[in-house]
Amino acid sequence: MKSWEKNIRKVVPYVPGEQPDKPHMIKLNTNENPYPPAPGVMEALYAFDVDRLRLYPDPEAKPLVEALARKYGVDPEQVFVGVGSDDVLAMSFMTFFNSDRPILFPDITYSFYDVWAEEFRIPYEYVPLDAQFKIQKEDYYRENGGVVFPNPNAPTGELMPLADIADILRHNQDVIVIVDEAYIDFGGESALALLPEYENLLIVQTFSKSRSMAGIRIGYAIGSKELIRYLNDVKYSFNSYTMNQLTLSLGVAAVEDEAYFQETVHKIVTTRERVKEELRGLGFVCGDSRSNFLFVTHPRLSAEKLFEDLKSEDIYVRYFRKPERIKDYLRITVGTDEEMDKMLDFLRAYLYAGA
Ligand SMILES: *Cc1c(COP(=O)(O)O)cnc(C)c1O
Repeated sequence: MKSWEKNIRKVVPYVPGEQPDKPHMIKLNTNENPYPPAPGVMEALYAFDVDRLRLYPDPEAKPLVEALARKYGVDPEQVFVGVGSDDVLAMSFMTFFNSDRPILFPDITYSFYDVWAEEFRIPYEYVPLDAQFKIQKEDYYRENGGVVFPNPNAPTGELMPLADIADILRHNQDVIVIVDEAYIDFGGESALALLPEYENLLIVQTFSKSRSMAGIRIGYAIGSKELIRYLNDVKYSFNSYTMNQLTLSLGVAAVEDEAYFQETVHKIVTTRERVKEELRGLGFVCGDSRSNFLFVTHPRLSAEKLFEDLKSEDIYVRYFRKPERIKDYLRITVGTDEEMDKMLDFLRAYLYAGA
C-alpha cells in the first residue's frame, strides 16, 4: 500500500444487477416495472419549460413533497424526498444510526444495508431469518442501535403482518426503526397506519418499482416531523439540491395518476399469482411473494447453471451467490404476461430435456 493510501476510506461497493441493452432481451433481474410510466408523465415532459433549468431547483422539493403528503394524508413536514430510495436510505443510516450498539437487519435481505453500515462505520449484526425465510419479531427484542428491514423482504418476497411490525416498534422505542417498503404496493399493508403511535418509525418507499420510474431516481421517506427535520438537516449539510427541476415535475405527474398506478399494479399482481402456480406445476418451490418478483428453487436444478442458461437465451434473472443459504435460489422479476410465457416455455423445454 502506498503511504497516501492508508487514510483513504475504502469500501467494498454494492453490486447492482447488470443493465444489458439487447434488443429482444427479457429483463427480469432488477425488479423494474414492465409497463411504461403514467401517461401524465409524458405530458409533463412535453410541457416542461427548459428555461427553468437556468435556476436552481427548490431545495425543499415542495411540489413533490406536497403531492406525496396529499396522497398519503400526512403533513408535508412528514415527507422527505431523495434520489431514489437508495439515497434516502443512505441518508437515513447516516442520520439515525450513530450508536455504539449494533443495528439489526436480516441475514437475507437487501444487500445494500451492510454496505452502508460498513461505509458509515456503523456496527451491525445480521439476524437470521427462520427456515421459511420469515422474520421472527422476537429476534428484534434485544438491545440495538437501530433496526432496518424491507417489508415485503427482498429477495424473499415474504410479507410481515402489520401486527408484527407494531410489536417490533413496541420493543424498540429508544431507537429508530426503518421499514423499507420498496415493494409494499404489490400486496402488503403499509406501516403508515402506525405513524401516529410511533414517532421513531421511518417508512421508505420508491418510484422505481410500482411507479415504473427506476430511471428517474425518486425515493421518499415518511415519518414524524422530528425525524424528517433531522433528515433534512443532514441533507442540507451535504447537498441541498438533490432533486432536479425535471424530476420534480415528472414525479408530481406520476403521483397524481392514481388510476393508472392501480391498473398496472393489479396487472403485475395477477401475472405474479399465475406464474407462481405455473412454476409450482413445474416442480419449483416458490414462497408466497407479495412483491413484483418470485424467489424460487428447484430440487433438480442448479440455480447457478439455470441462471447462466437463461442468460444465454437473453433472459436475465438474478442469482445471489451469497449467503450460502440462498445459493440454490433465483429471483425472477414479474414482467409482462408475454415475457413470463417465454420464460415458462424455456423452463418447460429445459426440464423436459432433463438438464
Ligand atoms: C429496489 C430497492 C430499493 C432501492 O430502490 P431505488 O431505485 O433506489 O429507489 C431499496 N430497497 C429495496 C429493498 C429495494 O429492493
